[in-house]
Amino acid sequence: MDQANILIIGGGVIGCAIARAVSERWQDVFLVEQFPKLGMATSTRNSGVNHSGIYYPKNSLKARFCVEGNRLTYEFCKKRNVPFRHCGKLVVAADAHEVEELAALKKRGEDNGVEGLRLIDADEIRKREPHIKGVAALDVPSTGIVSAEELVHAYARVATNQGASIVPRARVISLEPSAQTICVGLRIGDEEDAQDETIDARCVINAAGLYADEVAAMLGNRSWKIYPVRGEYCEVRGPRSSLINNLVYPLPHSDGLSLGVHFTKTLWGTFLLGPTATYVEGKDNYEKNRLPIADFAHSAKTLLPEIEEKDLQLGYSGLRPKLVPPGGKGIADFVITRDSNVPQVIHLVGMESPGLTAAPGVAEHVAQLVAEVLA
Ligand SMILES: Cc1cc2nc3c(=O)[nH]c(=O)nc-3n(C[C@H](O)[C@H](O)[C@H](O)COP(=O)(O)OP(=O)(O)OC[C@H]3O[C@@H](n4cnc5c(N)ncnc54)[C@H](O)[C@@H]3O)c2cc1C
Repeated sequence: MDQANILIIGGGVIGCAIARAVSERWQDVFLVEQFPKLGMATSTRNSGVNHSGIYYPKNSLKARFCVEGNRLTYEFCKKRNVPFRHCGKLVVAADAHEVEELAALKKRGEDNGVEGLRLIDADEIRKREPHIKGVAALDVPSTGIVSAEELVHAYARVATNQGASIVPRARVISLEPSAQTICVGLRIGDEEDAQDETIDARCVINAAGLYADEVAAMLGNRSWKIYPVRGEYCEVRGPRSSLINNLVYPLPHSDGLSLGVHFTKTLWGTFLLGPTATYVEGKDNYEKNRLPIADFAHSAKTLLPEIEEKDLQLGYSGLRPKLVPPGGKGIADFVITRDSNVPQVIHLVGMESPGLTAAPGVAEHVAQLVAEVLA
């Protein structure tokens, strides 16, 4: 049986950022990922936005780690040559009724420590985004976009260079705690010729994304249930992609489900419309009953009247690991906690947006929890 100081379950952006942070301080760090490659689940099926932290309730983990993570992500991208564009974004009020909400969003952002927020008028919107129709906007200069895929791989590369072992095609199937360690059961390889092995770990980190509730249940902890909420995208390519210069958002949905269908100019020059938000059955249900393109065109026309259905192509989709059940309201915070019965296990549950941004801040926090476990 192999021995590990730290075993991380899940090779998404959260697991890889944690691997980078903990391998800087400890040896014998393992990260296991069920898929053949890292970041194949939620971490590369998103908008790739380095969020500012304006949306989340004051003192929430989302606010704290988003603001911190925004800065750390830019620093990391510069140092490790991960493609990014620090372009800022506009949150646009479509009519006079929404202007008050815009001011409330500015105040919330300032309370969270987001710098440089500014309300701008229709003239300035036109200068920045000539095709966008709005009466006022919140200018959010710290927002930008990153290559999510390259970010995940860069975190993993640094972790590997620091001595961490990253093992793809390795699915955790059981967790058996004993007095000092956790015996982690692994199914390694493709289903036809898979082999079962175990690793004894002093500290286990559950960064299993959509499956974090099921991993916690392996210890008998049924505190959480994850509801997949699908976000779908359309893409505008070719000359019509010049309708958008940077990032343009409507005001967020009052139900807390999403930030609203927004426009994201990609690093490859197209722009994305989305993501939508629909509760679905199944944690790998990316394609069943996709929304028609006409729905995207319809909702986009409020801010971008020139857009036509024929400009759009169906894009990818991703699944949010929501803790709020269908019909529920409000924003659930990230859950980052040591297991109540097995404190050598650290769970990260409900790591939805802004998880891509927050990852380096979350990872530093988890490293402090690991220090408590290994003390
Ligand atoms: C539509 C959409 C748009 C978004 N846009 C943004 C954005 O613009 N900016 C932003 O900051 N955030 C955004 N997010 C959120 C962000 O993508 C997530 O918060 C982040 O990717 C979560 O990373 P993760 O590592 O927790 O999860 P994942 O990427 O899902 O990684 C978890 C990994 O664990 C593995 N795993 C699960 N169970 C096991 C097991 N038993 N054994 C081994 N491995 C296992 C999975 O295969 C998976 O690879 C968006 C999310 C969605 C869905």
